Amino acid sequence: MNIFDTIEDTTSWNKIQPRSSQNQTANALIVALTARFTAGFIVLCSLILLCWFSVTRLPIICQSLAEVSCQALSLRSSSVSESNPTHPFRSTSFVKLSSVQDEDASRVQEKSLEQQWQEYLISPIKDSQRQAVLDSLTQAERNDMDTTIAKSPDTIDAIAAQIYLQRLCEMGPRISGSKSMKVQQQGLRLFFEGMGATVASQSFTIPHPETRKSVELVNLIVQLHPEKKNRILFCCHYDTRPYADQDPKNPRASLPGANDGASGVGLFMVLAPHLQKIDQRLGIDLVFFDAEELVYDRSRDALFLGSIHFANQYVRSAPDYRYQAGVLIDMIADKTLELYYEKNSLNAAGPLTKSVWNKARQLKVAEFVAKPLHQVRDDHLALNEIAKIPTTDLIDFDYPAINSSTSYWHTTQDTPDKCSPVSMAKVGVVLLEWAKDYTK
Ligand SMILES: [Zn+2]
Repeated sequence: MNIFDTIEDTTSWNKIQPRSSQNQTANALIVALTARFTAGFIVLCSLILLCWFSVTRLPIICQSLAEVSCQALSLRSSSVSESNPTHPFRSTSFVKLSSVQDEDASRVQEKSLEQQWQEYLISPIKDSQRQAVLDSLTQAERNDMDTTIAKSPDTIDAIAAQIYLQRLCEMGPRISGSKSMKVQQQGLRLFFEGMGATVASQSFTIPHPETRKSVELVNLIVQLHPEKKNRILFCCHYDTRPYADQDPKNPRASLPGANDGASGVGLFMVLAPHLQKIDQRLGIDLVFFDAEELVYDRSRDALFLGSIHFANQYVRSAPDYRYQAGVLIDMIADKTLELYYEKNSLNAAGPLTKSVWNKARQLKVAEFVAKPLHQVRDDHLALNEIAKIPTTDLIDFDYPAINSSTSYWHTTQDTPDKCSPVSMAKVGVVLLEWAKDYTK
């Protein structure tokens, strides 16, 4: 029925009225017409609203419902309910993942989601994936990368470092205690054991900062030449902050953590085989710290839980080996790499800090600037102050660049496209050549 039908009905209604009173009939007709017009108007408005809703709002609601159901299936911690609308870890990623692996569909189905991601993280890198990274670079960047890699007799696979970084981000945020974090831990364990390293985990529990439920935190300790009693320590954090709390638009969105979380892991994955081959007087450990930033509330929650636990254990349950020096890397994949002396490192481990920058100067890696700039609180504080292991922090805190009006740090913009294999090549070459000197 439409509004015109309503008017015709009104006419027919008029025809069956008795002729007892003309005024009464006229009044009744006015009331009836008003009522029918109102009803018709409401119907018309409802139809317009329904059309508008179908066209504009329904797809959004459907998408939200799909996201909610996909999140329920995802690897993310159930305690973290906030979602980033651009978050890639959805059913589409999952389909893509299955096809990427080129495996028999039934075999893929037998595996848990966790297993599939774990295997994907460390799966061999395809030529097409390499080409995609190369295509994202300008010719000048490619030349810069080639020149940098050629500074070491070992060929550092910086493209692979970038691809590992991308894969970690595809898994979604690696918040401490989340399923994504566990997948990362398992994947890394398999990866490093696969290259013959000894992998130990150092687990401990804390009450979750928000829910107060018990959360297991795990530092991963990868030992190259574990028989050596004097060792050096390369470390990074591998968790991502629960929220992009510096994001100007959506501070409760999740943090991709490409540079701040994945960059150190990606670089260590490609650096480890070279570090293992060094004819070393000192053994080398790669340590991945959990809960560097399990911070939901900045005024309440503590930073550096993993490194503090590691440092306390080193003192209280002293292992039968000693670390001579430590190098922490954090946010080292920024496209505009600018590595200045970090002031806390200079204060606590001056000679060590200078030795790394000296190596960069020798290798003519100009992105290492031998001048102090920021004073950063990071995992190296616990190593220096509690464990008394002289440790320097390589951190490019200006992300994307010094004097830039924007910052990607702790925002939703901390994505793989802001990172560069060229930068990881530069840090990798300096660390590898420095380690060769230091372990002689
Ligand atoms: Zn951070």
